[in-house]
Parts: sequence; C-alpha cells; structure tokens
Amino acid sequence: MFLEKTDTTDPGFLTAVVRASGQKTLFHCYQCGKCTAGCPAAFAMDYKPNQVIRLLQLGQKDKVLSARAIWVCSGCSTCTTRCPCNIDIAQVMDSLRVIARQEGKTAQGRRVVLFNDLFLQSVKRNGRVFETGVALSFNLRTKAPLRDAAIGRFMLRHGKLGLTPVRIKKIQEVARIFGEREKG
Ligand code: SF4
Ligand code: SF4
Repeated sequence: MFLEKTDTTDPGFLTAVVRASGQKTLFHCYQCGKCTAGCPAAFAMDYKPNQVIRLLQLGQKDKVLSARAIWVCSGCSTCTTRCPCNIDIAQVMDSLRVIARQEGKTAQGRRVVLFNDLFLQSVKRNGRVFETGVALSFNLRTKAPLRDAAIGRFMLRHGKLGLTPVRIKKIQEVARIFGEREKG
C-alpha cells in the first residue's frame, strides 16, 4: 500500500511505542477505519490515523516519525472513542510526538513545536497563559506579524484578551512543577 522496496523495518519500534503509550492492544488493530472516519483532521493528514497504526505494526519508524499526521492531530480523542479494539489512538499520537521530538524529527511539525514551547514558557513565567503575548511571539517568529490581526483586535475590544500578563499568586508552585519535569 504505502511501502516501497527501500523502506527499512524496525521491529523494536512498535514495542517502544506500546511501552510509551501504554497501548498493548495496538497489535489488535484490524483496519476497520472507524478512527479515520471520525477524525476531524484526517483531511489534512498525509497518513490517516488507521494508516499510522498500520505503519506502526509494520515497524515503519522513519515513515511514522516523519509524518505530518502526528502534528496535525489535535488530540480530540474522537478516534479513541470509536476504536473497537480500545486503542487510545490519541495517546499513541501524543507518544509519537514525544518520540519525534526526542529524535529531532520535527521538520513537519516545526510550527506546532514552536507554539507548544511558547505556550509552556508563558505558563512557566505567569502560572497561566498570556494569550496575546503567545500569539504575537508566534506571529513574529513565523514571519507573519499581522496574522489574525482582525480577530485579535475584535477580542481585545470585547475584553476576551488582555494587554498585559496576569501572574498567579503561587507562581513558585508552578516553578516547582516545571523544575521536577525538567529534572525528568
Ligand atoms: S478504529 Fe481501531 S481497530 Fe479500527 S482501524 Fe482504527 S485503530 Fe484500527
Ligand atoms: S485525536 Fe487526533 S487522530 Fe484522533 S480523531 Fe482527534 S485529531 Fe484525529
């Protein structure tokens, strides 16, 4: 279907993903396609959710970690609720993003990674996200300073966005959580 003669197989990859995601039933997927049929983001994916699972079963590490699909996935869990094999596909996608980051395979998800980093930096600094700051930083870093300017102005006018960050009182608790996470 999507395999070429040059594709190499990594039999250990499926085991690694099962371990990372906790989805022992990954082996049971029989390609019913219900996950893809319900996925609201499938139209923008290179490999559909059922194809990602099949590639995993075939040990196609390079293809899976280089797929746009894992970054397009919004983690909505529609696929998970539909799977007759009880595979938490959203969790699998999440684990694949983590592994892709660990292995430096983020070319297809550069903007997603940037947004996630800016979001977390904002939470680390203030204890909650400062949406206006994150949006502006993201736009500047992606060389589109006026992206969504009209909707931004509308939200500011209606008090849905703030002009300055609001820091929570117990910011040291947030720093502690980030510190523990960074220690691993
Ligand atoms: S819904 Fe579950 S069993 Fe069906 S194709 Fe998707 S992962 Fe496989
Ligand atoms: S969690 Fe991801 S793969 Fe599953 S339905 Fe939502 S967008 Fe699609």
